[in-house]
Amino acid sequence: MRDLSELYSSTSIEKKESFDLSRASTFRIGGLAKLALFPKNEEELLKAIRISKENEVRFEIIGNGSNVLFADEGFDGAIIFTNKINNVTLDDCYITAQTGTKLVKISSLALENSLSGFEFAHGIPGTVGGAMIMNAGAYGSDMASVVVSSRYYDTKTYKIEVISREEHKFAYRDSLFACDRSLVFLSTTIRLQHADKYEIVEKISKNTESRRNSQPLEYPNCGSFFKRPDGYFAAKLIDDANLKGYSIGGAEVSTKHAGFIVNKGGATANDVLLLSKHIEDTVYQKHGVKLEREVKYIF
Ligand SMILES: Cc1cc2nc3c(=O)[nH]c(=O)nc-3n(C[C@H](O)[C@H](O)[C@H](O)COP(=O)(O)OP(=O)(O)OC[C@H]3O[C@@H](n4cnc5c(N)ncnc54)[C@H](O)[C@@H]3O)c2cc1C
Repeated sequence: MRDLSELYSSTSIEKKESFDLSRASTFRIGGLAKLALFPKNEEELLKAIRISKENEVRFEIIGNGSNVLFADEGFDGAIIFTNKINNVTLDDCYITAQTGTKLVKISSLALENSLSGFEFAHGIPGTVGGAMIMNAGAYGSDMASVVVSSRYYDTKTYKIEVISREEHKFAYRDSLFACDRSLVFLSTTIRLQHADKYEIVEKISKNTESRRNSQPLEYPNCGSFFKRPDGYFAAKLIDDANLKGYSIGGAEVSTKHAGFIVNKGGATANDVLLLSKHIEDTVYQKHGVKLEREVKYIF
């Protein structure tokens, strides 16, 4: 069996073998990754990708792990974490952030500088990278509403490209990066508006309060498990199918918010997948609506 770690030994990239993926997902679920890589800048990220590609090592890029379900069997390749690549710069009402920047870091910078437009993201526990892939959104706004341009690395051509807002192909929880997994997002520039600081604080407080009241933040979870089907709300469909509190193993349909699957303790990825299937089947039988998973399964 080949020693994966050895392949990256000519670089200064931080590595960990047999890395416990449950530590890296807000679901607290997952087996071992053969190798975890922690590049500290873009240059190291590009090197990690290039070495992986050239040696046919399977790899996945992970931000904060708040929208992924890692398999119980782990991952037979390299998981590349972006959290150390997190530079942010401010220029008037423009903020440029690297992929591993936490959304809360940007919303806090915006608040400090009386810039409005990013309040929606304050409570989303992800990185810019994850948010761009999913076009993360809340409270009537999303990444598509603020993005001006982005940079990405094309792993087919090994070139860095710059795209305008229109070229992102943003849609509900969807973007160019979600469709084409050979593109690795690097950084984005967003445009916000000068506004009254007090009003920004008010919006953030209101959103935080609403999250605290409606989301099961006391249990490990990955946010809304399903996308919102056209014309419906996934949580309402699940609730109307009497699935609140339904559980398989340690995985349960949250009693607080039916759109969330929570880990009540010791849940496996298999428990979550079986529960997800049961929800999908029941909702389809009862309402004739097909639910689509928002959370990405990494196996
Ligand atoms: C309590 C809670 C509340 C949440 N609320 C919301 C909400 O209100 N709105 C919302 O939209 N989401 C919400 N989420 C889901 C999640 O936080 C967001 O989707 C977030 O943007 C994911 O970011 P991440 O860094 O954790 O991504 P990860 O989970 O690390 O990755 C998600 C996907 O993006 C890919 N990816 C990450 N970085 C890159 C990159 N640089 N290049 C290519 N692919 C990449 C990964 O491979 C994976 O497929 C919530 C989650 C939790 C746990």
